[in-house]
Amino acid sequence: MTLNERDKKHLWHPLTQHKLHPDAIAITKAKGCVLTDENGNEYIDAIASWYTCMYGHCNDYITSRVATQMQQLDQVVFSGFTHEPAIKLSEALINILPSNQNKIFFSDNGSTSVEIGVKMALQYHFNNGEKRNILIAFEEGFHGDTFGAMSVSGLSVYNGPFEDFFLEVKRIPTPNGTNHDAILKTLKNIKENHKVAGFVYEPLVQGAAAMKMHNAEGLNTILNFCRQNNIVTIADEVMTGFGKTGRYFASDYMETKPDIMCLSKALTGGLLPMALTTCSQHIYDAFYSDDISKGLFHGHTYSANPLACTAALAGVALLQSKDIQNNIKRVIKAHQAFNERIKTHPKVKSTRQLGVIFALDLNVEMERYGNLRDKLFKFFMDKGVFLRPLGSTIYIQAPYVISEKQLEKVYKTIEEALSIV
Ligand SMILES: *Cc1c(COP(=O)(O)O)cnc(C)c1O
Repeated sequence: MTLNERDKKHLWHPLTQHKLHPDAIAITKAKGCVLTDENGNEYIDAIASWYTCMYGHCNDYITSRVATQMQQLDQVVFSGFTHEPAIKLSEALINILPSNQNKIFFSDNGSTSVEIGVKMALQYHFNNGEKRNILIAFEEGFHGDTFGAMSVSGLSVYNGPFEDFFLEVKRIPTPNGTNHDAILKTLKNIKENHKVAGFVYEPLVQGAAAMKMHNAEGLNTILNFCRQNNIVTIADEVMTGFGKTGRYFASDYMETKPDIMCLSKALTGGLLPMALTTCSQHIYDAFYSDDISKGLFHGHTYSANPLACTAALAGVALLQSKDIQNNIKRVIKAHQAFNERIKTHPKVKSTRQLGVIFALDLNVEMERYGNLRDKLFKFFMDKGVFLRPLGSTIYIQAPYVISEKQLEKVYKTIEEALSIV
């Protein structure tokens, strides 16, 4: 029996309607930017396995560091204990995070990092003697699949069964350069009528909304409004963090820094699951007390797992290296050249780019999980390129280390695909 056949017996995959999509491609190997399946077919991983493996799959530097750490300390409780990998990682991160970030809290995935950010914001006000119960979030945002994260997500494609159980959230549109006054008016209105605890947002790029991009100046205006009104700002940089936008963090583009940041995905270079919620000193101070109940009583068993910390530490070192920074610049330039070549194509409605994130919208309407989307996905895979169209958007977010030749193959395959839509 093939792996694909054995898979069907007992496995239940994420985000999958198994009756409509019974088959999973069995991957047996990943190295650099290439995935190999059980039949020996190779695919260029042009979305870095959901934006994680930015330094290439099975990166030698990361794997060797983790292999060494494995001989020393695998796992220990992080309540009441600490260890060098977590300490070193905190020091390395504080060096690259926006300057106001000062405390780091660990969890295991992007959704929980947002969940924790939301809890921090709610308890921040509670500890300060204020009960604030409303959150603000962008339309079409995506923040994960746990309840708090689902609540703030505006892309509630399949949230029907759960919506009655959500936190209360007010939505604002993303700033587009012309609607800033209107957004401010909406914000003022929400603030006057509700007790607003926090604002949760994906800065500059909304990943699950098909790499929708928005205006940095407008976002800065919103952040300033929040600051003036003691509304805790929570930047969900789970996707945008660690170099994707051309800077270490998307928040680096705004003058006003978030109070809280959520990080995961590329944090460990794709080797191990881990997430972080970081915050400024003034958030932390609201929890620091002689009163035990003012502490943050949230914790995951694998918090600050030493192997994941080691992978993350290696990842941060790579991100800061000349080699990776040069690669990022190279990919940005290549995308710009590709944009010139594709933007006037009759099947292309619009294109956009920030850092190594490139997206194009087709003139053709496609359902998020519809037939045309499946056809396009299959076309890419048959050509040996792993791209995952979202609605009528095709986007690239390849590992920084993708070669010129591999990038050209991705571009060419997209151009060829335009003739089948
Ligand atoms: C992927 C993602 C999440 C959820 O992270 P998981 O690790 O899948 O739980 C949250 N926010 C953003 C912006 C994401 O891209």
